Amino acid sequence: SKEQGRNTYNFYTNKMNEDVARRLLIEEQLRNALTKNDLYVCYQPVVDLKSREIIGAEALLRWNNEVMGNVPPDEFIPIAEQTGLIVAIGRYVLEQAVICASGWRSKYAADFKVAVNISPRQFRDAELLEYLESLLIQHNLPASGLELEITEGVLMTGHATVDKALSDLHTMGINISMDDFGTGYSSLSYLRSYPFDTLKVDKSFIDDISVDQAGLQLVGAAIAMGQVLGLKIIAEGIETEEQYQLLVTQQCDYGQGYLFSKPVPADEFGKMLEADRLR
Ligand code: C2E
Ligand code: CA
Ligand code: CA
Ligand code: CA
Repeated sequence: SKEQGRNTYNFYTNKMNEDVARRLLIEEQLRNALTKNDLYVCYQPVVDLKSREIIGAEALLRWNNEVMGNVPPDEFIPIAEQTGLIVAIGRYVLEQAVICASGWRSKYAADFKVAVNISPRQFRDAELLEYLESLLIQHNLPASGLELEITEGVLMTGHATVDKALSDLHTMGINISMDDFGTGYSSLSYLRSYPFDTLKVDKSFIDDISVDQAGLQLVGAAIAMGQVLGLKIIAEGIETEEQYQLLVTQQCDYGQGYLFSKPVPADEFGKMLEADRLR
């Protein structure tokens, strides 16, 4: 009926208005997030699969806002990216991660490495390199203690500045990691043309390895290919003991996932690392 049609129409326009309103609210709240101190960084262990020892961590941003509560990064990072706020927010994450990694290295694990996600917009920051250089010096962290995780989105921008930045970072000794491997269009050619050190096999592939033989073979092939290219391989999103065992049979070196630990705040991570090294 006509009435029903109008209700459906209202339903969609209301939903659209709600989405726009939430987006605007996030943008507005995000502008003050740094000064209000409600952004913080959590750390998820990266584990050596053979020994189960913690060798590093991925820094993951959290936002607890007074109006909206916890907003997930998958929702606010794209908005931070579009508005350019990611440059200042990203520097905050880098600073926190470098400070923590430096402390954990001197207290518990001399070879500890922290990985930080870097989004495309951050590479257009002409001062990114200088910023990183001074950050490492200021907090006494060798470049080899820092890894930057990038997705294909960074490379697809096609900016010559990205090429230059990646090779300069690599020359500095900072590791470069290909994140979410397998989810994009042309990861393979990118892997050969850029100076990657690490390849992170996306969780969606790890989910499938205990489902069927093809799923396991696909991950096995990705691991073998990474090894041919001389890359360190990290399997993402390991949730079960079965997945863990299967990855060991495929010669996968490193892993991350809820089986070992969820991302936790810095103080909690420090305790976990200490216990791990006393084991
Ligand atoms: P990502 O870089 O692929 O990070 C991995 C995500 O998988 C994280 O979600 C992590 O908590 C989650 N995860 C890890 N292990 C498991 C598991 O076993 N099971 C399941 N179900 N999930 C697992 P999170 O923290 O919500 O972050 C989502 C995305 O937001 C990240 O994906 C990354 O793209 C982005 N992000 C987070 N922090 C930052 C940041 O500081 N800067 C930038 N540019 N992006 C960030
Ligand atoms: Ca990542
Ligand atoms: Ca990932
Ligand atoms: Ca992801």
